[in-house]
Amino acid sequence: MKVLVINCGSSSLKYQVLEMETESVLCKGLVERIGIEGSVINHTKAGMDKFVLTVPMKDHKDAIGHVIDALTDKDHGVVSSMDEIGAVGHRVVHGGETYASSVLITDEVMKAINECADLAPLHNPANMLGIRACQELMPKTPMVAVFDTAFHQTMPASAYIYAIPYEYYENYKVRRYGFHGTSHKYVTERAAAMLGKDVKDVNLVTCHLGNGASLAAVKNGACIDTSMGLTPLEGLIMGTRSGILDPAVLVYLANKENLSIDQLNTILNKKSGVQGISGVSSDFRDVEEAANGGNARARLALDAYAERVKFYLGGYLAKLNGCDAIVFTAGLGENSITMRESICKGLESLGIKLDPAKNNVRGKETVISADDSKIKILLIPTNEELMIAKDTAGIVASL
Ligand code: ADP
Repeated sequence: MKVLVINCGSSSLKYQVLEMETESVLCKGLVERIGIEGSVINHTKAGMDKFVLTVPMKDHKDAIGHVIDALTDKDHGVVSSMDEIGAVGHRVVHGGETYASSVLITDEVMKAINECADLAPLHNPANMLGIRACQELMPKTPMVAVFDTAFHQTMPASAYIYAIPYEYYENYKVRRYGFHGTSHKYVTERAAAMLGKDVKDVNLVTCHLGNGASLAAVKNGACIDTSMGLTPLEGLIMGTRSGILDPAVLVYLANKENLSIDQLNTILNKKSGVQGISGVSSDFRDVEEAANGGNARARLALDAYAERVKFYLGGYLAKLNGCDAIVFTAGLGENSITMRESICKGLESLGIKLDPAKNNVRGKETVISADDSKIKILLIPTNEELMIAKDTAGIVASL
């Protein structure tokens, strides 16, 4: 069976077609800078050169249209018609407490995903656009939703409860859920393999640093805490999201500028993060370039970003009471040599020591810590697509 995996992020979209019999990737691609200037699709058919097309894409539906064109292209495509795709696996960000595992997409599931949209305003609507666009073009193909929240369901209540009146948890399920679960799970399994340990024996801090970003504390292979919360807004500084801040800032700003709740929500989700601090861009490459060119606010954004990662990293090391490795993954974690350096700088007393020469690498599964680092530092390119494809094929095979 061929499975198409669609992974819509907030500003990027990754896709793959996998042949499940061999778990081989027939083609894969990355659409970047969706909704911002310079949208581009990179499509690579196995064994062929990369095909790059720069074309304006105003939203995710536009992006998926270009993906389908690439999949059926006579030179770079892998199918002659989309009917050859046996199933589609969609990464869906928020499953609330309704979905603790992957599920076949039905009208009822789509309704539930829609109902979670206010919890993940940048993501669930983008995921739904992907699902709808695929349904329009492949009405008979079964589709599966794989939720980012699932891996974090092992968190103890003491980690997921918020210190607000308990009735809000009872009545509305207001609690920490956590996201990027498919990625944290994948790198946990790979880290165990790299360390030569059973996954049930590894203690890790996994750092998924993309446009959206989260850390997870993984004890004995299971998540015990993670930095994102009820929504993907909590935790780290992100491309356009604020992460944690004093909740009283909202009240103060609302009074000062007469802002509505919706306006505050937009500010925190879409106008904050490194974009908000730097005023340059939500894309770290632009911000790094500006900082290197002497832009003080761009430098401040990057410094604040690294400090926030350290804040969670320190907390999770304390919770774990013994850590085998720190794992860097996702766009920034895999590619930004300087950001990994900034995060690890000054942590030698905790037994964390980067090797500058080994760290001079991008997008490759490798150890980047010094030989005498007590805690290993691993670079592991994430592969959410493979995990999604396996779940999808498994569910569709049992129909
Ligand atoms: P998401 O899926 O959440 O949109 P990704 O994991 O695709 O995020 O990561 C996107 C982020 O990674 C962008 O902010 C981008 O700037 C950053 N990134 C990608 N390549 C590099 C690089 N070479 N140097 C610095 N940042 C990079």
